[in-house]
Amino acid sequence: MPLVPMTAFIEDSKKNKYAVGQFNLNNLEFTQAITEAAMEEKSPVIFGVSEGAMRYMGLDYTVAMAKAAAERAGVPVALHLDHGSSFEVVMKCIRAGFSSVMFDGSHYPLEENIRLTKQVVEAAHAVGVSVEGELGTIGGVEDDLSVDEEDATLAKPEEAIRFWEETKVDYLAIAVGTAHGMYKGEPKIRFDIIEKVASSIGAPIVLHGGSGVPDESIRKAISLGVGKINVNTENQVACTETIRKILAEKPNEIDPRKYLGPAREAIKEVVKGKMRLFGSSNRV
Ligand SMILES: [Zn+2]
Repeated sequence: MPLVPMTAFIEDSKKNKYAVGQFNLNNLEFTQAITEAAMEEKSPVIFGVSEGAMRYMGLDYTVAMAKAAAERAGVPVALHLDHGSSFEVVMKCIRAGFSSVMFDGSHYPLEENIRLTKQVVEAAHAVGVSVEGELGTIGGVEDDLSVDEEDATLAKPEEAIRFWEETKVDYLAIAVGTAHGMYKGEPKIRFDIIEKVASSIGAPIVLHGGSGVPDESIRKAISLGVGKINVNTENQVACTETIRKILAEKPNEIDPRKYLGPAREAIKEVVKGKMRLFGSSNRV
């Protein structure tokens, strides 16, 4: 199946109250693990690619891998730019074959975020590519993005509603207390903000920083209107812990397949568990 925009997921996920997972690609093994999980779970899936991961893998390799995975998968797969920082990088990804983009203008003043996001929506929608926008600043560290917890600002519901009305993004990420990377304590999610915004706009809400959020909170967030959840850190942890364990047990191991293969299995298990938790299993 060719890559699909995220709009392909909206109707069914709203009707059946589930969220589609965005799992980030870091290399070939991540791509394979996420694809196999989607196939085994019969779940739609979103490949997230940050600008940092894109530089690491190469834009051409990234698109080629994602296309090969989508053809093999037999389930709907979207290739989505994560936290796109400019109109230029968004256009570069669209031209290269991405089916979806996020434009993150959350660090701009509201008016400027609206103006820039509208430009992206216009260009992307003209070629059938879906768009995610962001309002409020999500704390934590992810690739080039680093936001001190004190500087993380929650989305104001009135602003989020206005942002959606003016930009008409397909998915809206709002800062509600989750953070990128690992949590020190338990995240305090502002369910009231999710509920207020989700009930007032026509787009599903996106939860960034889905790693380490308790299952109950995830289920509640989905019931209130979250339609997409981003996970990367938990996969990275599963991958690295597996490799660390194998190399500790066999310090003379030199064949990368002997530790990357098991790492790939570990990532796949995490992704499958998330798909079941998000309710996206057996939807295709
Ligand atoms: Zn994010």
